[in-house]
Amino acid sequence: QVRLESKKLPIIHHSKYVCELPANHRFPMGKFPRVLHFLLKDQVITEKQVWVPAIASKDLLSCVHTDDYLNKFLSGKTSEQEQRRTGFPWGTVLAAEAALQRGLACSTAGGTHHAFPGYGSGFCLLNDLAVAAKYVNSSSKKKVLIVDLDVHQGDGTAFIFKEEPAVFTFSVHCGKNFPLRKQESDLDISLEDGLEDEEYLSTEAHLPWLLQTFRPDLVLYDAGVDPHWEDELGRLRLTDQLYRRDLYVMKTTVNQGVPIATVIGGGYSRDLDKLALRHSIVHRAATQ
Ligand SMILES: [Zn+2]
Repeated sequence: QVRLESKKLPIIHHSKYVCELPANHRFPMGKFPRVLHFLLKDQVITEKQVWVPAIASKDLLSCVHTDDYLNKFLSGKTSEQEQRRTGFPWGTVLAAEAALQRGLACSTAGGTHHAFPGYGSGFCLLNDLAVAAKYVNSSSKKKVLIVDLDVHQGDGTAFIFKEEPAVFTFSVHCGKNFPLRKQESDLDISLEDGLEDEEYLSTEAHLPWLLQTFRPDLVLYDAGVDPHWEDELGRLRLTDQLYRRDLYVMKTTVNQGVPIATVIGGGYSRDLDKLALRHSIVHRAATQ
C-alpha cells in the first residue's frame, strides 16, 4: 500500500535546487519543485541523494533537435533561469549517467516525449528521453530501451528512433487519447478508455522478454501518472496502485542487472500538491 499523506504543509524552498514559478506557469510545470519538496519532507530521500544537473548545451541537444528549432528556442524569450525551471532535458541525461554508475536513478522531472526534432507539441519543447538515449548511445555505444507508460503515446520518441536499431521504443498508451495521429514505436500497446488496475498491470508481461531479447544496457522509464483516474487529461481508471506498476518495472529491470533511469512524465491536476505526491510514487517504489 502507498501512503500519500503529506498535506497542508508550507512550501519549503531549497534555494539550491528549487525555484518558484510565476503563477501563470503553474499548470502543468509548477509540479516539478513540489515533487522534490515532498520527497525530502516525507524522508523518502535525503539531500545527499539529490544530484543537481547542469544546463544542457546546444551541442548536446542537437544530437536530436534541428539547429533551426534550437536557435528559435534558445534565442527566444526563455532565459537560462526559465529553462532551468522547466526541469528538462538535462536532468534526464544526468539521471541516465547516474543510473549507469549506480544502477538506479530517478529524476523529479522529464518525460517530454511529444517533442519532434523540428517542433514541440503537447506541453513538450525538447525531447529529453531522446536526447538522453542518443547521448548514451553515441558516447558509449550502449543500447537503450525506452519504456513509456505515460497515458499518451511517446510519438516524438517513436519518430526519432524509428530507423535506430540501438534504441527500442516501447509505449503503452490510451488509444483514443492525444496524439490523434500515432507514430509507430518498436512496440505499441494501445488501451481502451476506462481500463482499471488489474487489466492494465497485465500489460507488464511484455517487459521480461523485451529485456531478454533486446538486451539493453540502459532502460529509460517514463512513469507518467496520467493513467490515474483523477487525472484531468487521462482516460483510464488506475488508482495509486501505480506503485505496483513502477515497482514491477524497476524490480524486473534491476533484477536482470540492467541500469534504469526514471522520469516522472505526464500528470495533470489543478491541485499541484496532490499531483506532486502522485508523481512521487515512482521514487517511493524506488526505495524498495
Ligand atoms: Zn501524458
